[in-house]
Amino acid sequence: MDWNKLADVLVPDENVKPLDYYETLYPERDLPKGAQVTRLAPSPTGFIHLGNLFVAIANERIAHQSGGLMYLRIEDTDLKRKVDGAVDAVKNALKYFDIRFDEGAEIEGAENKYGPYYQRERAEIYHAYAKDLIRRGLAYPCFCTEEELSALREKQTAEKKITGYYGEYAACRNLTEEQIYENLKAGKPYVIRLRSQGNAENKLPFHDEIKGDITVTENDQDVVILKSDGIPTYHFAHAIDDHFMRTTLVIRGEEWLASLPIHIELFDVLGFRRPKYGHNCSLQKMDGETRRKLSKRKDPELGLEFYRQEGYNARAVKVYMLTLLNSNFEEWYMKNPDGKLEDFKFSINKMGKSGALFDLNKLSDISKNELAKLSAEEMFDVLQDWANEFGTDAQKTYFADKDYMLKVLTLCMGIGGKKRRKDFTTSKQAMEFIAYFFDNTFAPEYAYRFDNATVKKILQEFKATYAYEDDMPTWFDKVKAVAAANGFATDMKAYKADPTAYPGNVSDVAEMLRIAMTGLANTPDLWTIMQILGNERTLARLDKAIENL
Ligand code: GLU
Repeated sequence: MDWNKLADVLVPDENVKPLDYYETLYPERDLPKGAQVTRLAPSPTGFIHLGNLFVAIANERIAHQSGGLMYLRIEDTDLKRKVDGAVDAVKNALKYFDIRFDEGAEIEGAENKYGPYYQRERAEIYHAYAKDLIRRGLAYPCFCTEEELSALREKQTAEKKITGYYGEYAACRNLTEEQIYENLKAGKPYVIRLRSQGNAENKLPFHDEIKGDITVTENDQDVVILKSDGIPTYHFAHAIDDHFMRTTLVIRGEEWLASLPIHIELFDVLGFRRPKYGHNCSLQKMDGETRRKLSKRKDPELGLEFYRQEGYNARAVKVYMLTLLNSNFEEWYMKNPDGKLEDFKFSINKMGKSGALFDLNKLSDISKNELAKLSAEEMFDVLQDWANEFGTDAQKTYFADKDYMLKVLTLCMGIGGKKRRKDFTTSKQAMEFIAYFFDNTFAPEYAYRFDNATVKKILQEFKATYAYEDDMPTWFDKVKAVAAANGFATDMKAYKADPTAYPGNVSDVAEMLRIAMTGLANTPDLWTIMQILGNERTLARLDKAIENL
């Protein structure tokens, strides 16, 4: 077989350059010793998920901490899965979490010397290397049709053999020169396959940066390297790209562990030094009693968009991800609750080897703590940013009177009080929480625990004595007076000694007022709420509640 000739026929010289050209074009990077070059290499499917963020944080931390860099590569070899605007979606999703790329697809201001960063724009390099493999007898054209391949799969399954294109099953591996040219002449579509040199009986020791020393089975599959349209497969493209983009460390999801043998062989036959690999554990959740992987279909919290839409505090999500990524992070964070996350020394050897349990409640707790660190001004900005993008028209109006909103936030966040309140979990929930302060979203249900006649009488009597100027003790004396006038206990000791002697106590009366004013049985301090609402609105709300009784 004249492999040189076949290589020239399949990949004409004018389409590619000599291999040295690429080595010179993309030289080794000039970085300090130990600096790591990492990347995020998503497919532009439009769906950016927590798993992407999980590895992005690890890659970003290790790159920047070591004085290296991280770049963004778009793996767009699968056109069927491509979605318009997906690259912006990736960048925006990660920007929210403050993940910085130093170079790559659409990274403005960067030198971007190792591009293009879209795989579809790198066809020439892949073709040059496919040609070289053909010339060396390490790759060949395969003319098998889809039907033939599925028949093969069925036969292998029936015979309980490993499925795939390998060894004796790799029909096109042994085509004669005549057969190949005949097929080409007949215009049969073909793919280019690797002629695997491996043997699945052989086990290889492998050092995974996260999993430690593991054993992998040698690849013997003649995997496709170029598809019939000349587009490479992920396996082939990533090996060439990681080499020429001079990647030193690949942290990726453990779902790629199964393909590792293919990647090892590809790097070997291409003559490239492999980057180090770390396969990161998957994110799991409890589903009833069982623990399972987060699923795109079942779990909205898998998509990164979820966190922006709900308005989770970005730092909280990052803190939680770091907690799951590095076993000593939580302890560091307890000591440095206000510290810069970059000051934590991230280490790859503290990454978990098996599944990380992701719990939305835990994230909510972290988020509450983070929000409780913000000033009213900061919270104002956080909520306004969220509302501009995701809020209803009514919610957008909350920001028109900044002083009013700051008062609301100061109260609801317990700023200036003995202890900060932790009622806010997300921007969405916070906006709902404060809805009663705004007439256009005040929609009370008035669920009182006493009969309407009693409540009505109490509200009327309170209204008659209410004065906006009253300070809190005076105001409370008036609440007590109304309570006493209606037989409610004002002395809690006496009430506890014999609760049946009273219809209720002063806090029940306060609750009636609270429900009338806010629609809710639990709120921050009621006197302050009335102060914020103002005299007119307080009286109007009392009237409205009375009318509804
Ligand atoms: N394009 C692959 C993905 O989206 C990248 C895997 C890798 O990081 O190597 O999952």
